[in-house]
Amino acid sequence: MHRKTLLLNMYGAMLDRLGSSHWYPGDTPFEIAVGVILAQNTNWQNASKAVFNLKNLDLFSAPVLYALPEEDLAEHIRPAGYFRMKASRVKHFLSFLRTACRFDMELLKSQEMEILREKLLQVRGIGPETTDAILLYALDKPSFVVDAYTARILNRHCLMPENVSYPELREYFMEVLDPDIRIFSEFHALLIRVGKTWCKKKAGLCASCPLADFLE
Ligand code: SF4
Repeated sequence: MHRKTLLLNMYGAMLDRLGSSHWYPGDTPFEIAVGVILAQNTNWQNASKAVFNLKNLDLFSAPVLYALPEEDLAEHIRPAGYFRMKASRVKHFLSFLRTACRFDMELLKSQEMEILREKLLQVRGIGPETTDAILLYALDKPSFVVDAYTARILNRHCLMPENVSYPELREYFMEVLDPDIRIFSEFHALLIRVGKTWCKKKAGLCASCPLADFLE
């Protein structure tokens, strides 16, 4: 089967079975971007508790958070886990925003995707997955996000080698699919949901999985 047809059929099967994922929640591009950083190594629910804390204290704006001492930020975002490390990452991201766009997310959005991607990759603590998630979910840029679940699922379906790198895996989707923000956003979310529920590390629960029909 043609690669594009195969991927879109897999996407359709997951969407039909699981429904829309509504990722990432957030009222503004800034909230989504900070939420992406806070959600590293945890789930969105814990990240949103940290965002709620900051909003509750009237601290949730880029200039205010930029001025807030890092130790105070760390205390407020405790529910997100790894709170000291994440406070440092949020601080680096805020410094980037100040320099790149004076905290104006619309100005950031107006920049060309690949240039912006390179700049975000230079920010300490912002790796490729976080960069692509910020580009896609906060800035509406068609940058496909991949992760360990994506790698495992594609490998088990004989589409990727076992130790595929992040750039190779992302490139596969970017080359095959048309740059559609809606499909990119949903596809990544659906793969994570399938990975967590069915495509477990030790063995896949293939019999009941939405992607069972795509096994060779
Ligand atoms: S659980 Fe089985 S069918 Fe589902 S994604 Fe993993 S390998 Fe494919």
